[in-house]
Amino acid sequence: MTKKEAKTRIQKLKEELKEIDYAYYVLDKPIVSDAARDSLKDELERLEKKYPEFITPDSPTQRLGGEALDKFKKFQHKTRKYSFDDVFSFEDVKEFDKRTKRFLKISENIKIEYVCELKIDGLKTALWYEKGYLTKALTRGDGVIGEDVTHTVKTIGSIPLSIPEKKNAEVEGEVYMPRKSFDMLNRQQKEKKEPLFANPRNAAAGSVRQLEAEAAANRDLRFFAYTVPNALNLGIKTQLDVLKILEKWKFGVNKYYKKIKGIENSLKFFSKCERKRNKFPYQIDGIVVKINLLDLQNRLGRTSKNVRWACAYKFPAEQAVTVVKNIKVQVGRMGSLTPVAHLRPVKVAGSTVSRATLHNEDEIKKLDVRIGDTVIIQKAGDVIPDIVKVLPKMRTGKEKVFKMPKKCPICGSKAIRPKGEAITKCTNPNCFARTRKHFYHFVGKGCFDIDGLGSKIVDQLINEGLIDDPADVFTLKRGDLEPLERFADKSASNIISAIENSKKISLGKLFFALGILHVGEEAARVFAEHIYNLISKPTSNLKDYLKVFKSLSQENLESIPGFGPKASQSIYKYFKNRNNIKFLEKLNKVGISIIYEGKKKKASALLGKTFVVTGTLKGFTRDETEEKIRNLGGSVASSVSKNTDFVVAGKDPGSKFDKARKLGVKILNEKGFMRLIKGK
Ligand code: NAD
Repeated sequence: MTKKEAKTRIQKLKEELKEIDYAYYVLDKPIVSDAARDSLKDELERLEKKYPEFITPDSPTQRLGGEALDKFKKFQHKTRKYSFDDVFSFEDVKEFDKRTKRFLKISENIKIEYVCELKIDGLKTALWYEKGYLTKALTRGDGVIGEDVTHTVKTIGSIPLSIPEKKNAEVEGEVYMPRKSFDMLNRQQKEKKEPLFANPRNAAAGSVRQLEAEAAANRDLRFFAYTVPNALNLGIKTQLDVLKILEKWKFGVNKYYKKIKGIENSLKFFSKCERKRNKFPYQIDGIVVKINLLDLQNRLGRTSKNVRWACAYKFPAEQAVTVVKNIKVQVGRMGSLTPVAHLRPVKVAGSTVSRATLHNEDEIKKLDVRIGDTVIIQKAGDVIPDIVKVLPKMRTGKEKVFKMPKKCPICGSKAIRPKGEAITKCTNPNCFARTRKHFYHFVGKGCFDIDGLGSKIVDQLINEGLIDDPADVFTLKRGDLEPLERFADKSASNIISAIENSKKISLGKLFFALGILHVGEEAARVFAEHIYNLISKPTSNLKDYLKVFKSLSQENLESIPGFGPKASQSIYKYFKNRNNIKFLEKLNKVGISIIYEGKKKKASALLGKTFVVTGTLKGFTRDETEEKIRNLGGSVASSVSKNTDFVVAGKDPGSKFDKARKLGVKILNEKGFMRLIKGK
């Protein structure tokens, strides 16, 4: 993204978020899920971090989203209300711990004491107690000014109207509605034909922010207290003691918290809460990690919007926002053409994905999704994500409308959409089988050799539209694989790392993988040697090799020793085909690099000699022996003939040994072979 593009994107994100936050905080009528909103905000934060010159004071990242409505009396808060830094992975939580230590100038090895609390999804409310009596309740508002909701808050049973010892105190906590009560409320709303609430948080906020106390009194609102902003003045020293004293004062306090020493120890608590997430009788959306010592909290202070002494770890969400980079058509087993959105990689439901299915032409029309659009995607359970919504206001005018092709993108045959059907089909019955075979070969032995990527998985990947040419394999993300049948988390990670490892390849293997007509494994290797000799300087950049491929003349190819006219013509044709060059360029783009094997060694006793290997050698595996021979300029054949120069025979040699004897071919044992390769 260029700087200019970033500026436009930042502007669009700000506008979109302002509208979303207004609907959520002020109107209590969310228009998108929390996850989608957080994802947009996260993108804005990242872009602003990269281009701080575009940060404006009104950016949703710089201020709290709320606003006090005129219909309520407004009051200034006793203490300013701040937000937390939202984090979305355990790595980020560890980074928060590191940052804290850096700020405090303490050693990385010191284990800080934290209190982890459930992040209750409700409405933050500040309560003022004067001489022990509840005198005011304010919503968070914009953090400075809150709305006076004392009348509704006083109807909530888990908020005491007075606290012992006639103290002046401020207490903060969350007004929430239990899930069951929320369901019941929505049932009643439905019966009364009144609008439904989007979620329990929205119902709680809507009930507290009513002008009549009665409206709140009739709803099951509860309160969890968690902070006493003036605790230090009251002689309280830790967050743990804050929770204990709040309990003593008879507030509702959530019991599911944990004190830990050292951030590593929070992971177990996180996982446990995440597992139990839907079992809690109230809605939670993460864990708040707070430094236990209030004195330390004070020292850390705050930035313009967030406190530095806590962070909010948000559970992996099933929705996220990303950009459709392309829409490609994939051809399935039965010849159906399925459009698939190729996305800017994004984390959703705990892992990164880069594809979303678009099902068919009608679905694209219904969503009005265009190439370049910003979209909300959803991954529910083990399926490929769907696009649920386009954010049309994020458009810049550069988006492209997608049209279903009239020809099959794989074989070029006519594609038709039968009347009354949603699916377009390729009319060539052999189309899928051909592609599939090429795929198996490309990722298989002797080629890219991607561990774990067997034919069954390749079939699934093609069928689900995750890949439509072999180069796509290298763009897959873990989350793309997880929805596949019989796919465990671990095998997905393993394949992704195998794919990563296979990105460096020798030229010989690459040629073999390309499946050029008449170019088998051995010819591919010979051809690679020829190219290594032509290349001017050692390089691993596929682009440099591409230049040489494109410049190859037919005469040059025919001069390769041992190359017949069929192979040289076929190679020549291959590199003259625009689509093949495009494919190689794509391989370069997805990160394939070449292992430079150097110029062919000239003086070697093995040069130009043909070897056959049989039996087991002590020092090498069969593959290693063959590689050694090739590296030294020899070639390896699979069967013995009168053209064979040497047979290398290890322990328990097979029939090749007998044949060599019969034909009088020179036989080398392991010792003899070693002497030969050492040039003795
Ligand atoms: P935040 O993420 O900084 O969290 C602070 C809030 O956490 C506090 O105000 C309090 O209400 C709450 N909280 C819950 N348990 C707590 C505990 N144990 N200790 C301390 N605080 C606790 O707040 P934010 O930046 O205002 O965002 C609030 C949330 O609202 C976000 O998670 C976001 O997803 C959601 N949101 C949704 C939309 C939407 O349209 N769906 C719009 C805006 C915000």
